[in-house]
Amino acid sequence: MAEWYIPGTKRGTHPAKTFQAWHTANKRQFSQWDEQGNKIDALELGLAMAEGYVDHFGLEKHIEIIAPEMSIQIDVLDENGKYLCTFVCQIDVVYRNKANKRIGIIEHKTAKQIPNMKINSGYGDQGMAYLWAARLELLRLGILKPGQEIDHVMFNVARKALPDDRPKDKDGYCLNKDGTISKRQPSPLFIREPLDVGGNQLAEIDGRIRQEAKEVIAARKNDFDIYKNPMEDCDRYCAFKVPCELHSIGADYESVLDYEFKPWNPYDAHELREEKNH
Ligand code: SF4
Repeated sequence: MAEWYIPGTKRGTHPAKTFQAWHTANKRQFSQWDEQGNKIDALELGLAMAEGYVDHFGLEKHIEIIAPEMSIQIDVLDENGKYLCTFVCQIDVVYRNKANKRIGIIEHKTAKQIPNMKINSGYGDQGMAYLWAARLELLRLGILKPGQEIDHVMFNVARKALPDDRPKDKDGYCLNKDGTISKRQPSPLFIREPLDVGGNQLAEIDGRIRQEAKEVIAARKNDFDIYKNPMEDCDRYCAFKVPCELHSIGADYESVLDYEFKPWNPYDAHELREEKNH
């Protein structure tokens, strides 16, 4: 999508072409499964999604891209000006809507089903943190003028599914073989879901980033008891779940850590400069 939403109002390389090139270069043969559990070839699916996306939204001449993939790095300080942490992120799109001059953020997502994208969801924290960071960065660059705010964070979601190829009526409803409107209509393939934002949430995320940093610093200094909190997210998200389970049952989790893990910096790809020696 970064090749499509290049800076300015003209669009770049068609996402289908980019996806085809990526697929060929990576020689990755893999498949995806749709909502009904049907296996779909990844190339076929990716091309259909990319073609469908451009057919659906068109050239969107009102969208002026300020920056695709904007990398941001911010040193976060406490209320006394003491360094707490470095916040890094990469925002998919920062753009200006030429029709109303408002500046917004777009985050691209793909999902088998259109997910909940509200503040209290897996996406809210990312959206709010990106808004917080982009606001500071755009003010620093002079793109956002003092008193001006980022208008919205827009999740741009493409559903991982092939288009429904049944015949449709003039309103776009899928038809049965006898020409009547089918009771089984497909979910939309593309949606744009804005995250509601306001000054209160900005203050909240501002406080949360600092508080999390303070807790990490305290935990590293052993000023803060670290405890495990097993829950449903462990299975989906935690890379440490195997040694964690071994630890819980009193087995040798340290060997697993020694053999299966090595330290790495997940922020390597995002850091813009050497971390300061604070
Ligand atoms: S699996 Fe991970 S997240 Fe869950 S309790 Fe263990 S260490 Fe914590």
